[in-house]
Amino acid sequence: MKRTLLCALCFLLLLSGTAARKTDKTRTAGMRHIAASFHLYDSLQKCIWNYAETGYNETRSADLWCRYLESQGFRVERGVAGIPTAFVATYGEGGPVIGMMAEYDAIKGMSQDTVPYRKVLHEGAAGQACGHNLLGMGSVAGAVAVSKYLAEGHPGTVRLFGCPAEEGGGGKAYMMREGCFEGVDAMLDWHPDTRNTVNTQTGLANVQVKFTFHGKASHASGAPEQGRSALDAVEAFNFMINLMREHVPQTCRIHYVITNGGKAPNVVPETAQVLYYFRSPSRTVVGELLQRALKAAEGACLGTGTTFDYELMSGNYERLPNETMAALVYANLQRVGGVAYDARELAFAAEMMSRSGLTDTVPSRAFEVVPPADEGYEAYVSSDVGNVTWGVPTGSFRYATFIPGGNGHSWQQVSSGGTTIGTKGALNAARVLYLCAYDLLTDAALLNKVRDEFEARRGPDFHFEPLMGDRQPPFGYNR
Ligand SMILES: [Zn+2]
Repeated sequence: MKRTLLCALCFLLLLSGTAARKTDKTRTAGMRHIAASFHLYDSLQKCIWNYAETGYNETRSADLWCRYLESQGFRVERGVAGIPTAFVATYGEGGPVIGMMAEYDAIKGMSQDTVPYRKVLHEGAAGQACGHNLLGMGSVAGAVAVSKYLAEGHPGTVRLFGCPAEEGGGGKAYMMREGCFEGVDAMLDWHPDTRNTVNTQTGLANVQVKFTFHGKASHASGAPEQGRSALDAVEAFNFMINLMREHVPQTCRIHYVITNGGKAPNVVPETAQVLYYFRSPSRTVVGELLQRALKAAEGACLGTGTTFDYELMSGNYERLPNETMAALVYANLQRVGGVAYDARELAFAAEMMSRSGLTDTVPSRAFEVVPPADEGYEAYVSSDVGNVTWGVPTGSFRYATFIPGGNGHSWQQVSSGGTTIGTKGALNAARVLYLCAYDLLTDAALLNKVRDEFEARRGPDFHFEPLMGDRQPPFGYNR
C-alpha cells in the first residue's frame, strides 16, 4: 500500500514536472522559431542593410517585410495612414492585442562597408547608421515568434507596425494621428545599441522646422545696393537663436544646419534656408521655443529687408514612461541575457575598438544586461516612438548590436550592424519581445496593471494633438 502511494506520488510529481516544462515560456514554439531561424533572419536583415533606403523611400524594404509576413500567415495592410511605405501586419484573433514596431529607414551619406575601419561602400549613398535594418528584423522575428505560439490555439493577436521615416520624417507621428495604433493593449519597442538595458527615460520632445528666407538677387559687386540677402537673414536669425540659448531651460537642445546658403558669392542670395530641431523634455516648452524662434525670424527679416516662411516638418512627444512595462522588459532581458560573440566577431570588435581609439578592445557591455541609467544618451534623444507611448502603454529596451567606439549615427554602426554581430543582438531582442508578449497574453492581471498605470499617468482628459498639425507627411524631405 505504502509502495503504491509512493508510486502514485512519483507519478504525480512527474506529471507536474512535465506540465511545468510545457508552460516554461522559454521552451515554447516562439522561442524555438527564433533559435532555428538564425540564417533566415541574418539574410533578411542584410537585404535591408543593402537596400539602405531613406525615410519615405523605403519601398523595397517595406515590401520585403510585407511579403515575408504574408508568407508567415499574417494579414498585411499596406500603405496605411496614406503613407506608401507604412504597413500593419496582424496575426491571431481577439484580445489581448500586443503591438511591436519595425523601422527600416537609412541615413543619407552614411554608406560604409562591413569592415572594422572606415571604407565607403557607395560614394554619397545612404547607410543604416541607426541600425534600423536590425530594428525591423528583431521586431518582425519577435512578432512571427508570437504567431507560432498563437498558432497552437492560444487566444490573442500580435500586430506588427511597419513604421517608415523615423530619421526626421516622424512616420509614427503621422500613423498615430491617423489612429493606426488604436485597439492595441500594449506596445513593445526596442532599439539597437552598444549595450543591453531597459528604457526608463522620457527623452526629449522635438519639432523639426525648416525656415526659408526670401530676399532679392543682384550682382554682389556691380549693384549690391539693389540686393537683399536671404543668407544675411539666415545668419542674423542664427545669431539671435544662439543668444537665446543662454535663456532657455538647461535641458533644451537646439541645433541647425544651413541647407541652402546661396549658390555663388558674386550673386546676392535670393533664397536661403536653415533647418532647425528644437528639443525639450516637455513638448509645451518645445512649443514655446518655436514661438520665440518665429519672433527672431521676424526680427531677422526686419533688419535685412527680407521675408520668411516656415514649415513644421515633424513633431514628437516626449515618452510617457510605464514602470510596469519596464519591469516586465527588464525581467525578460535578464532571462535572455547578453550577446555571445565567436572568435571572428571578437577579432572584428577588437580591431574596430582599437581603431576608434579605445584602450579596452573587448565589447564587454554586450555580454551582460545592465540596469537603466538615470542620465545619459536616452535622456537627450527624441524619437517618434514618443507619440505612440501616449496612445498605447509601451515598454522599450536596447540591445547590443553595435561595437563601442562609434557614436550614434556613425560609420561604425553601419558596419557592425551589417554583420552577424548585429544579427545576434537583434535576435536576442526578438526573444525579449516574444517573452514579454507571452507574459502579457497569458497574465490578465499583469496587463490590467499596465493599463491602469498608463491611464493614471496619461490623465483622464488626454487628447492627442499632433505637434505637426494637419500637414501631410514630408515625403520628399530625403530626396
Ligand atoms: Zn534609430
